[in-house]
Amino acid sequence: QDDIFKNVISHAKEYGYIFPSSEIYDGLSAVYDYAQNGVELKRNIREYWWKSMVQMHENIVGIDASIFMHPTTWKASGHVDAFNDPLIDNKDSKKRYRADVLIEDYCEKLHQKALKEIEKAQKRFGDSFDEAEFVNTNPRVIGYHTKKKEILERMARGLDSGDLADVKALIEELEIADPESGSKNWTEVRQFNLMFGTKLGASADTAMDLYLRPETAQGIFVNFLNVQKTGRMKIPFGIAQTGKAFRNEIVARQFIFRMREFEQMEMQYFVKPGEEMKWYEYWKETRHKWHLSLGLGAENYRFHDHEKLAHYANAATDIEFNFPFGFKELEGIHSRTDFDLKAHEQHSGKKLQYFDNETNSSFTPYVVETSVGLDRLFLAVFSKSLQEEVLEDGSVRTVLRLPSVLAPTKAAILPLVRKDGLPDIAKDIIEDLKWEFNVAYDDKDAVGRRYRRQDALGTPFCITVDHQTLEDKTVTIRHRDSMKQDRVAISDLKSIINDEISI
Ligand code: ATP
Repeated sequence: QDDIFKNVISHAKEYGYIFPSSEIYDGLSAVYDYAQNGVELKRNIREYWWKSMVQMHENIVGIDASIFMHPTTWKASGHVDAFNDPLIDNKDSKKRYRADVLIEDYCEKLHQKALKEIEKAQKRFGDSFDEAEFVNTNPRVIGYHTKKKEILERMARGLDSGDLADVKALIEELEIADPESGSKNWTEVRQFNLMFGTKLGASADTAMDLYLRPETAQGIFVNFLNVQKTGRMKIPFGIAQTGKAFRNEIVARQFIFRMREFEQMEMQYFVKPGEEMKWYEYWKETRHKWHLSLGLGAENYRFHDHEKLAHYANAATDIEFNFPFGFKELEGIHSRTDFDLKAHEQHSGKKLQYFDNETNSSFTPYVVETSVGLDRLFLAVFSKSLQEEVLEDGSVRTVLRLPSVLAPTKAAILPLVRKDGLPDIAKDIIEDLKWEFNVAYDDKDAVGRRYRRQDALGTPFCITVDHQTLEDKTVTIRHRDSMKQDRVAISDLKSIINDEISI
């Protein structure tokens, strides 16, 4: 697994997808830059999301709110008081960890042990195995599950009540060791606010303390009534937004999975109170289907319903993805009740209610949110697409099987040789195609090597201009995944590519 992940990171760099930020100064921890191909892939993912949310839903509109917001926003949303991670240091290794993550990892191990028991029994009993019955009656499995539940409940109690000494006691009782050094010599647990602070204004005494937004959602809530009124929106309706968010993450070591500056794609769906669970289920299913449409394999997704809910939620689930380092959160779907609108109403003194023409009455809508990290989606798509395959002749081919709709370059146009007028025809083809999609030109090296380079870049098509083209205006078109080549008319290229890149 480690090797696969390392390979993903080095491929992303070598093929111009992702560079460490300010690399000439040895980089900056957990900050990355999207390179010439990465920016296109990221843009295509964003656009694919936007189209499915905004363009395909009559009742969802988009906005683009500012990163800076009035500081009271974050008081109202609860971020000033509660957007904390409990951190703990190991006294020997001097490494810093999230106490909750250490405990959750311990619980995941218990969960894995239970799964092993189930697997063993499955093998033993074969077809007659009744998993539900086994899980409910086997003392070992029950033991693992109960212990896990008790630990998580105790942790939640400690974090919610501020009894951090008990969270530390829990870590000590479970004998959790520093994953790197094995030491069990821990400091106290303390809360650490994840928001980045900054100042607005030049003079020291009038400057205002601001935060960089830690989520895009609040920009939607504070604009709720403006959008509803000017767009004459009728409930249920949604507001979508993509944009940067900032969190001073304590542990950020998993490439673009957890960054300090990242991008979110969020949609807040405003519904009638009492109908939120219906819409929560609807968006769970809709978002799951959306992920499956990318073709990365249904087995790579799972839901993780939350037992411990955030202060604003009455139901929450994560869509987890099988990243190179295991299943982790990709998207969150939260039923946020009327917490945010009510809180902003209270702090601003402005009414944030929906007027229902039919019943002639006002109410505060409930909200169901879908929130996905663009960078995490990028990592999901990129890591699953990167494959090595052994060809018939025994050689190994590296191919980035990106969904065609997301590929940065849709086709590379290659003149077989750099003479006899072939480059001119290739450039004419580019002139014609570039209005519709990103295309690239390459005339260096033998054509076989150029194919391999485009495979590694994820380009779905290579179009080769050869001597026959001079006679009959046809070219070969090579498909990245099958490596099959067809002879087609230049005039058919557009429709062939369009067929492939529309889902
Ligand atoms: P985690 O538990 O992994 O820290 P979270 O539950 O805090 O995530 P949310 O606040 O629900 O995340 O944010 C919604 C989405 O934003 C997440 O599902 C994830 O895809 C993305 N996201 C959150 N934090 C980061 C980060 N530091 N870097 C990249 N993406 C992030």
